[in-house]
Amino acid sequence: MPGRSGLVPPASNERDGLAFLTSSSGVSISRTRRRKKEPSESRVSSIPGRRQSDLTRSSGTLKIEGAKVHPTVFITPADVRRARRNIERYDWARQIADAVLREAAEWLKREDDWLRRTVPLPGASFAVGISGCPICGANWGPWARDGASFENPGHVTCPNGHTLPDNDHPDEGNGYRGPDGRNHYFVGTYNSWVVETLTFKALENLVYAYTLTADERYADKAIVILDAIASIYEETP
Ligand SMILES: [Zn+2]
Repeated sequence: MPGRSGLVPPASNERDGLAFLTSSSGVSISRTRRRKKEPSESRVSSIPGRRQSDLTRSSGTLKIEGAKVHPTVFITPADVRRARRNIERYDWARQIADAVLREAAEWLKREDDWLRRTVPLPGASFAVGISGCPICGANWGPWARDGASFENPGHVTCPNGHTLPDNDHPDEGNGYRGPDGRNHYFVGTYNSWVVETLTFKALENLVYAYTLTADERYADKAIVILDAIASIYEETP
């Protein structure tokens, strides 16, 4: 059985399920114990305005080890070569790659202007949506999940079919306050759904498709999305 979403055999170092390529030489963090009264410890504590962290006081220091091969963020060139080999050799890898390319192809069809218009504007509200439906009390789960659609911008639909906001439950963008005093952020929940969808469905598949094929159309589309999301906050680099 392959890993739940990996192009490398499950025996390898498996990361979060969202990553289908795994690395054996990415960034790692290890904790090293340190003897008491070590010289560097007193230097740290003598820096004006700086306090020893709880970790340093209690058990040692964190040692950050960067990837040894560049260019690398989470996967190395060797990982990419292994993934491409796996796709040629194994059905499970081929199936994952096909799914990635299928999804990426759908996002390639989206016009750049559509993507820019779809991303919430600066100042937009973002909400998890835990207040749920003010009509029936149903919960649509965090970020609306299946309860939102690009076909109906600014709205969410509860599992019982109530689409909000509506005339009786208005939301100009900063939420609707119900008679019981609870706030419901329909627009904010939709906004969160948009960014989550663009991040985990669009970007993730586009960057993996580019990684596997080196076809720059995927990278160009991913850049448009990244740039649009970055424009939400002025201070975003
Ligand atoms: Zn409802």
